[in-house]
Amino acid sequence: MTMPPPDPWLFTPGPLTTSATVKAAMLHDRGSRDRAFLELDREIRRRLVALVGGEGTHVCVPIQGSGTFAVEAMLGTLVPRDGRLLILVNGAYGRRMATIARYHGRSVETLEWPEDRPVDPARLEARLAAEPRPTHVAVVHCETTSGVLNPLEAVAEIVARHGAALLVDAMSSFGALPIDARRIRFDGLAASANKCLEGVPGVGFVLVREAALEASAGNAPALSLDLFDQHDAWRRTGQWRFTPPTHVLAALHQALLEHEAEGGVAGRGRRYVENARILIEGMRALGFVPLLDPEVQAPIIVTFAMPADPRFRFETFYELLRERGYVIYPGKLTVAPSFRMGCIGRLGPEVMRGAVGAVGEALAVMGVASGAPAPREAAA
Ligand SMILES: *Cc1c(COP(=O)(O)O)cnc(C)c1O
Repeated sequence: MTMPPPDPWLFTPGPLTTSATVKAAMLHDRGSRDRAFLELDREIRRRLVALVGGEGTHVCVPIQGSGTFAVEAMLGTLVPRDGRLLILVNGAYGRRMATIARYHGRSVETLEWPEDRPVDPARLEARLAAEPRPTHVAVVHCETTSGVLNPLEAVAEIVARHGAALLVDAMSSFGALPIDARRIRFDGLAASANKCLEGVPGVGFVLVREAALEASAGNAPALSLDLFDQHDAWRRTGQWRFTPPTHVLAALHQALLEHEAEGGVAGRGRRYVENARILIEGMRALGFVPLLDPEVQAPIIVTFAMPADPRFRFETFYELLRERGYVIYPGKLTVAPSFRMGCIGRLGPEVMRGAVGAVGEALAVMGVASGAPAPREAAA
């Protein structure tokens, strides 16, 4: 009997590569009102709150769908109809929050930075000191568009000092970079199962300050994305309002056990830092240049400038890597041609070295001597 080919390694967060045991957790049918499922569900929410030290202040409200559904539920539920939302934008995910708020008909304003730079707290400070005062500020923790890490703690301190509420898209950092609700004051923080937690896609969640959630009745512009209503249903019935993604939640529960076994946020973060180091060093040795300065590069996803050699074709490169079992991401930047490689998911040092080896082979097949991009002056 021939074995089916193994799955490719996903450098495309997310979906991302998951462990065999996470996938195996989905091989059961569970009733949504069954006691075993409801216990598993409660346990997931308890663990997610504990990951940010939010016990006693924050609650976890999961929502069916991809990460964007959780972000949309957070903005829709927590920004009241007469609220004024300020969004810090340095990439596609910040821009997406602005699009969502406009769909909701909320008053929204943005402060913008280039995609290869973190947001600047000083500009936020100046804006918050001026009228009309925003009631809410939204920021992306790790902007996955480029991989840049935004200064969440400094942003949170300024927002709190000005008496506004902070909403965080922590989709691609949650579970790998530390976020402590006792040090970083936020009303809402959205993430999903299928990034650094290494679950499968299909559920997102929002960690919400309980007092803010209690005050949010009637805000949400959509029933299915109303976090207040979902939380209220749990309080009254202990159950999801609409069909829960039972298999996805079973996988998430297993993923959380594996996260804990790896040493929690610190352990997972360490593996990703090492993944990023191997990737960046290996790619540099082949001539590639990362877009970001090392001090603002999060160990989540790395953007490389497109090589200058005219024999380099991204579609061919992608296919050659795919044939060798590695799937990468095209760039999402508007500023420069680029491609991205993720460091997250069930990937370790061997796989990262394997990917770098495959990149070297792909260059050789294309007859490209170096991954070096055109000099920056020329590109600018
Ligand atoms: C992945 C991601 C999202 C959500 O994307 P979906 O495709 O809806 O899962 C939102 N924000 C950031 C920063 C992300 O990395």
